[in-house]
Amino acid sequence: LSGGVGVDRVPGLGHSGGGSTLLGYIGIDTIIEQMRKKTMKAGFDFNIMIVGYSGLGKSTLVNTLFKSQVSRWSSGWGGEHKIPKTVEIKAVSHVIEEGGVKMKLTVIDTPGFGDQINNENCWDPISKYINEQYEKFLKEEVNIARKKRIPDTRVHCCLYFISPTGHSLRQLDIEFMKHLSRVVNIIPVIAKSDTMTPDEKNEFKHRVRKELETYGIEYYPQNEFDDDMEDKNENDKIREAMPFAVVGSDKEYQVNGKRVLGRKTAWGVVEVENPNHCEFALLRDFLIRSHLQDLKEVTHNIHYETYRARRLNDNGGLHPISANNTQESNL
Ligand code: GDP
Ligand code: MG
Repeated sequence: LSGGVGVDRVPGLGHSGGGSTLLGYIGIDTIIEQMRKKTMKAGFDFNIMIVGYSGLGKSTLVNTLFKSQVSRWSSGWGGEHKIPKTVEIKAVSHVIEEGGVKMKLTVIDTPGFGDQINNENCWDPISKYINEQYEKFLKEEVNIARKKRIPDTRVHCCLYFISPTGHSLRQLDIEFMKHLSRVVNIIPVIAKSDTMTPDEKNEFKHRVRKELETYGIEYYPQNEFDDDMEDKNENDKIREAMPFAVVGSDKEYQVNGKRVLGRKTAWGVVEVENPNHCEFALLRDFLIRSHLQDLKEVTHNIHYETYRARRLNDNGGLHPISANNTQESNL
């Protein structure tokens, strides 16, 4: 054999020929189609958490993102609801299907965040929930009788809503993101951006970005996890455009003969999906169309891995779990 260790490009890949007659088509490239079929059959989980002061349009935005009532606390659903005494964690799941691909979407709402008189440590229940999902996954993983596919309830992404004050971040914004960015992918967004003029919006975005940097808050996509130069260039552009200034709505308006989702303001209708009006479409493309898989991978390879390593260390290494005790692990 001539070649040593290394990547030998197989000439004639994809039947197009032109290369050596000795090395014909093997069929390695069909793995992609095989993977696609498996994924289509299995479907996948995506879990998104929404955090921010009440009334910032969290439920509305998630419903706008997934074009359905995936968050039941939206304004249209029974109007005012009582402010809970502590931060509550409410997870609601839906199966969404598009083009034959099934996604089990879970929206984790956190009503009561920032509503208390004393908001100190109000992220505790949130961080507890996130860790509990890691723990659940870990327990399944170390079981002798492992499930073929472990149900994934881990939070893949936390959308953090910033009030469109035009001033600066609040203390709670900073504290929350600082604490949680170490355990989950945080994506900060500026809520209700239709309440600001374009100049105010740009100025505010700039200021928030500066503050996040000053406080050392690492949001998603984190610099350190860029895979290669291509990844870095793409993510640099996204980081420079963040936090996205978004608008959510469940109302349609007639604009130039087309029905579009929007909000009526003194200046006219702000179209949710029009990139000249707000950055909703940017956020949607980033979150769903380009980075959904990466959000899941960073959750698994970085955040969960950190949890797992710490947990197994504390436990003095991985103890085998006896066969008659496969349901409840000792962890
Ligand atoms: P949540 O408490 O954060 O879940 O907020 P909701 O989604 O329930 O929305 C609270 C109120 O704000 C409702 O009256 C919504 O119609 C309104 N709202 C939601 N999104 C926006 C937005 O982007 N801009 C403006 N101006 N109002 C919004
Ligand atoms: Mg809500």
